[in-house]
Amino acid sequence: MPKPLVAANWKMNGSRAFVEEFFGAFDLAGVEVDVAICPPFPYLSLVADCVASVASERLSVGAQNASQEESGAYTGEVSTGMLADFGVQYVIVGHSERRSRYGESSELVAEKFSAVKRAGLVPILCVGETLEEREGGHTLEVVRAQLEAVTDFAGNDAWHGAVVAYEPVWAIGTGKTATPEQAQEVHRFIREKLGEAGAETPLLYGGSVKGANAGALFAQADIDGALVGGASLDAKEFAGICRAA
Ligand code: PGA
Repeated sequence: MPKPLVAANWKMNGSRAFVEEFFGAFDLAGVEVDVAICPPFPYLSLVADCVASVASERLSVGAQNASQEESGAYTGEVSTGMLADFGVQYVIVGHSERRSRYGESSELVAEKFSAVKRAGLVPILCVGETLEEREGGHTLEVVRAQLEAVTDFAGNDAWHGAVVAYEPVWAIGTGKTATPEQAQEVHRFIREKLGEAGAETPLLYGGSVKGANAGALFAQADIDGALVGGASLDAKEFAGICRAA
């Protein structure tokens, strides 16, 4: 059975004061799943301290991106080893905002995925189609290609110890969630594509997840958790999503 996980993707939001307020209000009571908070790089250390003070085995820290390189002349980049050094456990790779705005190809994402694993961390690989691709009937083909880029680079064993997040691009930050059935169809497909590791790989849904729709999504057989953007900035709303998982 995959271990359920709910991850907060704060994107480029927050401040020192926000981190403190968030942890002042975030209540894990009744939460029975693993939870990861992924703040922007400068706040990782502060979030790691807050997570340590909560002292729950369920709570951990994640980053939103990492370099595929280990060290050297890569101005502006952050390596997976540095993230591990700061107590990070998860790293989001291939988020659609990075693919579309920063030109990250599926091949580069596969390299980042492997770098995360080499550092002993857990990659959260994001896959998903645009509205145009969905309307053109290409959803599964797009997701298949995004997954195959990773297996081509890292082999089938790559999925052990990884997390995959299905995030339809048209549902991210738009308030339009995929219906539980639409999400389940793609999750089932991903589970099959992962082969033998699929049975234990947590598959998260992402795209306008809120307290109000989380329960119906989590009720689907192949949805093991969520990657939450906007709603993760509200500690109470986010705790509600975690409780629903
Ligand atoms: P959203 O973002 O919950 O704000 O739609 C999800 C994500 O981009 O990970």
